[in-house]
Amino acid sequence: MNRRADHFDWSGGHPALDFVNTLDERPSDEPIDNLATYRDLARFAELAGLIEPQIAGPLQRLHDPASIRIVKRARHLREHLHDLLAATTSRRLVRQADLDALSAAIQAAHAARALVASRSTGLVEYRWRLPWTPVIPLHACALAIESLLVGGKRKRIRKCGAADCDVYYLDTSKAQRRQWCSMKGCGNREKQRRRRSVTRN
Ligand SMILES: [Zn+2]
Repeated sequence: MNRRADHFDWSGGHPALDFVNTLDERPSDEPIDNLATYRDLARFAELAGLIEPQIAGPLQRLHDPASIRIVKRARHLREHLHDLLAATTSRRLVRQADLDALSAAIQAAHAARALVASRSTGLVEYRWRLPWTPVIPLHACALAIESLLVGGKRKRIRKCGAADCDVYYLDTSKAQRRQWCSMKGCGNREKQRRRRSVTRN
């Protein structure tokens, strides 16, 4: 997986959290949307390991009204997930509208899947597969959201502790006391800020 030249934030530790983090600098007046185009969405899904490169390649060349609508739907889905995570991590009640939107997207992804058979070492194996359509990256993101929310991982979802950072991540540390999206960025910045305020007082 080549992630060197991309502009996505991979500190989420889970594709669904990396998906929510595609809106950079969310708390500011001018957030940067890394899912600005359908190409961005297909590229994100590929780099996040949600769709295979041979599928993502042709998708990235699409640019028609239908693909523009799909990336719009993806951005809406992302914001519903964000609002749900924001409510959960600040112990507020989750909005029904967010649950309904996520539920509809996950159901649509399930409905799109087809059972495929493959033979390896003489045995037939069956698995679910999303057929090739331009909606694949959106469905793949919805299935990633399902895997995040339904299961034990949701207990480890955290929001970065820096006041001006809205990045979400999975705390996989043993002690489960990770406070920042990255130690290099927010962690160092917050430590310096706290040090300065102690010196001033
Ligand atoms: Zn942060």
